[in-house]
Amino acid sequence: MFRRVLFFATALASLSLAATAAPPVRTQLPDAVVPSLYDVSVTPHAASLTFDGQVTINIDVLRPTRSITLNALDLAFSSVALSGAEGTVFPAPQVTMDAKAQTATFSFPDPVEPGAYRLALAYTGRIGTQAAGLFALDYENAAGKQRALFTQFEDADARRFIPCWDEPAYKAIFRLAATVPSPLMAVSNMPVATREDLGNGLTRVSFRPSPWMSSYLLFLAVGDFERATLQSGDTELGVVTQRGLLPQAGFALDSAAVVLDYYNDYFDIPYPLAKLDNVAAPGRSTFFGAMENWGAIFTFEHTLLLDPTISTLADKQRVFAVQAHEMAHMWFGDLVTMRWWDDLWLNEGFASWMGSRATEDLHPEWNTALRAVAAREWAMNRDAMATTHPVVQHIATVQQARLAFDAITYSKGRAVLGMLEDYIGADKWRDGVRAYIDRHAYGNAVSNDLWSAVQGASGQPIIDIAHDFTLQPGIPLIKVDSAQCTGGKTQLALSQGEFTRDRPDKKPLSWRVPVTVQTLGDEPVRVLVVGGKASVGVPGCETLLVNAGQRGYYRTLYGPDRFAGIRDHFSQLAPIDQLGLLADTWALGMAGLQPSSDFLRLVRAATTDADPQLWQDIADDLGTLDRYYRGEGARQARFRAFASARLRPMLERLGWQPVAGESAPVKILRVQLIDTLGSLADPVVVQEARRRYEDKDPAAMPASLRRTLLGVIALNADADTWDRLHAEALAEKTPMVRDELYTLLARSRDPALARRALELALTDEPGATVSGSMIRGVSAEYPDLAFDFALAHKDAVDARIDPNERIRYYPSLGSNSYDPAMIDKMAAFAGKYIATGSRRGAEAAIEDIRYHIALRRDRLPAIDAWLATAQPGQAD
Ligand SMILES: [Zn+2]
Repeated sequence: MFRRVLFFATALASLSLAATAAPPVRTQLPDAVVPSLYDVSVTPHAASLTFDGQVTINIDVLRPTRSITLNALDLAFSSVALSGAEGTVFPAPQVTMDAKAQTATFSFPDPVEPGAYRLALAYTGRIGTQAAGLFALDYENAAGKQRALFTQFEDADARRFIPCWDEPAYKAIFRLAATVPSPLMAVSNMPVATREDLGNGLTRVSFRPSPWMSSYLLFLAVGDFERATLQSGDTELGVVTQRGLLPQAGFALDSAAVVLDYYNDYFDIPYPLAKLDNVAAPGRSTFFGAMENWGAIFTFEHTLLLDPTISTLADKQRVFAVQAHEMAHMWFGDLVTMRWWDDLWLNEGFASWMGSRATEDLHPEWNTALRAVAAREWAMNRDAMATTHPVVQHIATVQQARLAFDAITYSKGRAVLGMLEDYIGADKWRDGVRAYIDRHAYGNAVSNDLWSAVQGASGQPIIDIAHDFTLQPGIPLIKVDSAQCTGGKTQLALSQGEFTRDRPDKKPLSWRVPVTVQTLGDEPVRVLVVGGKASVGVPGCETLLVNAGQRGYYRTLYGPDRFAGIRDHFSQLAPIDQLGLLADTWALGMAGLQPSSDFLRLVRAATTDADPQLWQDIADDLGTLDRYYRGEGARQARFRAFASARLRPMLERLGWQPVAGESAPVKILRVQLIDTLGSLADPVVVQEARRRYEDKDPAAMPASLRRTLLGVIALNADADTWDRLHAEALAEKTPMVRDELYTLLARSRDPALARRALELALTDEPGATVSGSMIRGVSAEYPDLAFDFALAHKDAVDARIDPNERIRYYPSLGSNSYDPAMIDKMAAFAGKYIATGSRRGAEAAIEDIRYHIALRRDRLPAIDAWLATAQPGQAD
């Protein structure tokens, strides 16, 4: 599943330290019965949002049992029949539904003896309006109002569609048939086997049997679709879109062919299914962007289609990167699946690492390798807080499993894999991955299975290092205690602490840390810091750089003199190391481990010819700092003057119009600079954005800038402008563009307009899946307003967000607050609405609020003082 925008992401919710001593969960279901095949037939009734289902499940009873329990949620049974292998029919069982456990239990008067049986169930279910179970997405096109149906099952919503053993370790074969209106297209994991015209306007579409797989990977979509295909070796690649939008999926289809070749080679096991579709859906979710159903990836249109009126190069990169992530799941997740949600990171961390690696290798001109630092920061921001958790964590409930889809699972997982690959070498690492896939294909695995395979293939002891970074939370802090040059060589003493943002007195955990050290211009040297200390000699006496290449998951503290040395040579560092040093300096400064103004000194030291991605990160960080000054009138104005004085010359250098032959990172930087300067209310940029908005010439608002310019307009809108944007949103027919326009309406800094956006979000006008994004949009500037409003209208908001996301959606709205009163409100919300053990989203939000209040109190004064004396261009 894909959960964040890879290139310009902001952290979402997270969870806290899990109890590691609890016994492992294998299944929440009684384990006397296991399924092997589901023969499922469904008839959706789209107009009434209901469906009929029939399923016959081949089961094996392993021990005598009087009852059979499986998962079922919001289903009603009309018949339940158990028959033996020889056709013996058992008396109808008593049916008990448990809504809390999300199960159905069938109780028989006499024990069912071990053996093979068939369990036949007829039932009805509901079609939702949010992405959970079978759900409907409404949209409008030239032919009028349309309704398409899709399924979304991860982590535990297949049980809303089929009564089933809905856990990753209960793999089985799924044979699916759907009875649908004849003009519509039905798509599932497998190719269509037969199509039978029932003569009443309906067609029964039967799909070929699935491979042996987990229930959360099953998929069905029904709608007025178009499909394009491309044969690649033995695999038919496809894209499926609503009618009329197929040309916008061309890039995704071509990219799939390139990525498939790359993975077939990397994993050394060819993609095993006959076809692989990527199915585009209008609308959005506050939970995810894409889902790796085997053979039928689901992706929201905004992350699969390129619309010529609004899509940018960054969108194109995201389409590629997300597809590369989902396709990596075809092996890591679908072919080999984690045994239980404790090891979710095996799916998500690996797909994140593999997808970004494929993107770097297949599109070197994008230079996305530099984005590894931003991805690592996403994880570290959460991992430095008390509410973090180990990469491998104890999961007891499906709600906890939902909370596990977070920065630690995705991004720390990715960073740790990248560090270990670097440590043992890319070829040996790949050999280990191949051995793991080969050994566990069509089965389930745990983290240690991967470590053993890699250690076996490489002959290098990595298991202890891997355990240190995945079984305990947190971030090592590598401190340079001393560095002395003698005879052309620098002798270093390193020690290991722990980096935290909120617990300065915490006793550090201990890690075995692979560290790379280099002096400028010389070869890097690797050392493993063990037991908290290491000493190492490196060639050269020039400026010292730790974590050269930035493959390590740790922060580096140099001490004032050595930091001054490296700052003076900042422009001579490799771009990736400039990004890493900037990130460490920012984080260490905000945590009080070095002066918070050091970050601004680096910003001032950055040269205009530095890598564009360094300037992207600078713009990003200055935007964050500006948010910390929210509501601080004169202080914020002084900060903004500094930030504008650094960023605007860069924009002037690049110009507002793309230049022929310029690089991808330059194109993306231009957009980022306009966006950030607009958010800083830079008068020149706001005025130019308005001029372009008024200009009748369409060239003034090219697709590459349209969304960004509209964002600047919306952020700084008055009531008349807001009404005009609203009218444009109302008139827009293309779902993806329409959703964007409604989301922009929620960005206004005018509090009266923010209120109007909240009220608009709860009307039927924006569409059932956009409201959640609108309310969240308001929360960026007005967290207290958005949180209070959402709670005051909780029933209406609940109906407009993914039901499983409520436990962290509401906390996310208040997490940007600087008001101590929000802490109590958040705790009260969690106590009332969230089960004990699933409150980590709320706990993390509370921790964020406390941290930001402390940061404003303790760190901003030093920045004020520095800004009062510093000139933007002045040297240190
Ligand atoms: Zn994923």
